[in-house]
Amino acid sequence: MIKFLDLQQVTALHHDEIREAVNRVIDGGWYILGDEVRQFEDEYARYHDRKFCVGCGNGLDALTLMLRAYIEIGEMQPGDEIIVPANTFIATILAITENGLVPVLAEPRRDTLEIDDSVISSCITDRTRAVMLVHLYGRNAYTERVGEICRAHGLKLLEDCAQSQGCLYIAPDGRAIKTGALGEASAHSFYPGKNLGALGDGGAVLTNDARLAEVVRALGNYGSQRKYVFGYQGRNSRLDEIQAAILRVKLRYLDDDNAKRKTIADYYYENINNPLVRLPKRMRSEENVYHLFPIFCEHREALQAYLLETGIQTQVHYPIAPHQQECYANHPAMAAVSLPVTEELARQELSLPISPCMTLEEAKVVVDCVNGFCR
Ligand SMILES: *Cc1c(COP(=O)(O)O)cnc(C)c1O
Repeated sequence: MIKFLDLQQVTALHHDEIREAVNRVIDGGWYILGDEVRQFEDEYARYHDRKFCVGCGNGLDALTLMLRAYIEIGEMQPGDEIIVPANTFIATILAITENGLVPVLAEPRRDTLEIDDSVISSCITDRTRAVMLVHLYGRNAYTERVGEICRAHGLKLLEDCAQSQGCLYIAPDGRAIKTGALGEASAHSFYPGKNLGALGDGGAVLTNDARLAEVVRALGNYGSQRKYVFGYQGRNSRLDEIQAAILRVKLRYLDDDNAKRKTIADYYYENINNPLVRLPKRMRSEENVYHLFPIFCEHREALQAYLLETGIQTQVHYPIAPHQQECYANHPAMAAVSLPVTEELARQELSLPISPCMTLEEAKVVVDCVNGFCR
């Protein structure tokens, strides 16, 4: 059996250090907002070359509090529009609608799976305040042109980095910039299956904007900036101390783990040759950390069943696009819109197994099976 993602094996890679980190917190007796959270925030900010990192309870909260903070500091208002790729995971959209902001769903390109600058330009209105890039599947979504458009229209560039930890953007002058450090602020998830995964929930916001960081921190701590003084109607959404200790261990291995994913992905790209299967455009190697390895097939259900017969688990990311979800059936910006590319991707996407633990022998079994599929 080739599992889609064997988290037990992923954790076993760093077993001793993780146990040691957890024991340190247990024995230390300080369980909320202690040294581990502080140090992880510093290390994670430094890894991205950003000034501020604020830990949160999970990735959805990181997205939600980042947007809420812009409302609290008066830089956004309910009713303002945020341009967002229509094929993202629903959490990106939930964070927007929860704040009374309006998601403007932009169609991705079939080949890159990302929105490009011409689509972004066509979505801009006088209510647009931000472009939310989502580095979906681990693929960098930023281009120079997207940055220029945001600057030209005074739009904030925000990033959903839940799937892209460790991914780089290589600028035309050769500089390498981490996703998460490309715009004004970025939201991160440490859900166990992500490239930097905790053993529970976790999230963070990164920014160079001191005011924004301070408000995000207050919002996640009941709205309090000083003990028992509440400037905002906040919530409780803090990064857990034990998870922070675990994340400090795993952050040290993130680049190595991503390199292992790339070995598998390269093998897939070089060897999958079934004409019934379409691969997304291959990116330069720095610009994809292969959180997932999506392929596209008109006969997706048959292919998935065929792989499973050989003992290969796959998943679909995502079978129903956000605008077609029941929860948005009455939402004016989403119900009854037609997004043919997004809908095609949702019908055809299949994610092959990929992880830092997967071997080339396993990848070969997957490739042989994919190549053997016929109608
Ligand atoms: C996982 C994910 C989130 C949400 O993160 P959680 O920690 O699960 O709340 C948001 N956006 C994207 C693109 C994701 O993949």
